[in-house]
Amino acid sequence: MEKPDLSIIAPMYNEEEVLGIFFEEIKKVLDKIDGIEYEIICINDGSSDKTLDKLRFFAEQDKRIKAISFSRNFGKEKAMYAGLEHCSGKAAIVIDVDLQDPVELIEIFIQKWKEGYETVYGVRINRKTDTFFKRFTANLFYKAFNKMSQVPVYKNGGDFRLIDRKVIDAIKEIKDNKLFMKYIFNWPGYKSCSVGFVRQKRAAGTTKWNYWKLWNFALDGISAATTLPLRIWTYIGVFISLLAFLRGGYIIARTLISGIDLPGYASLTAAILFLGGIQLIALGVLGEYLGRVLEETRRRPMYLIAEKVNFDA
Ligand code: UDP
Ligand code: MG
Repeated sequence: MEKPDLSIIAPMYNEEEVLGIFFEEIKKVLDKIDGIEYEIICINDGSSDKTLDKLRFFAEQDKRIKAISFSRNFGKEKAMYAGLEHCSGKAAIVIDVDLQDPVELIEIFIQKWKEGYETVYGVRINRKTDTFFKRFTANLFYKAFNKMSQVPVYKNGGDFRLIDRKVIDAIKEIKDNKLFMKYIFNWPGYKSCSVGFVRQKRAAGTTKWNYWKLWNFALDGISAATTLPLRIWTYIGVFISLLAFLRGGYIIARTLISGIDLPGYASLTAAILFLGGIQLIALGVLGEYLGRVLEETRRRPMYLIAEKVNFDA
């Protein structure tokens, strides 16, 4: 088969319920676009349900549907990366299979790409489907992240986007073991534009996220983008030393003027506890980075593939 114009990259983990509707909906949209050749690369991220069986079935009927099946669950980030490594299109669109990313947007993405944008990304124009707490924490994350990182992560942008071959090839050069794709996608730069959309409810099945996972995901993101949390302790230390110095001077002066009085025991314990806490936090931050250094230096394979379907040649 000739190289296609467009590669759709769809990571999936236990999505047997939506797979059928997903192919139906996305093909409807793609077949409408004049003369476009496409492939749909599905990455089965170690599903324990019938996702793989269903994939084989659909791939049998349509050779444009290709499947990569991981040996176990490696997470969506790696699934997307594997998709980029295996796609051959002049551009790729990353999309969730649960139809939360509206397939109709693909047409606009392609239009913008033809206008010359190397990245066209979807932005959620409202997060009404999220709880207040989720919106609040998400906002906080974007604010903090973009203050610290040189490369921004788009507020309310997800992974749903089109990227040009230039960007795909640049991303393939990045070999981080801990991948934070929202950031990696933006790392190469080039020209980008956004398209607003309203995120739909899941067509079927359930979300794979919870707050603990999101928190760890945020930590992965920050450590991938900046070392500021490591470096900041020097300044905090200088600041606290300065305070201690001033306080010492004050006590000496007071003792000289009005003699020794019995020192406050409460303020002493407060100061010790406070400093102990600060030091533990600093150690914890160090640990976060050290752990990641270890993970990167191990140079383990990013993922393992158990099976490929329709990748002949
Ligand atoms: N996904 C994956 N591996 C995982 C978790 C999720 O490939 O370990 C896929 C999932 O099948 C879906 C997409 O990533 O296509 C988004 O997942 P989900 O809908 O659970 O996330 P949410 O939309 O709630 O953020
Ligand atoms: Mg979803």
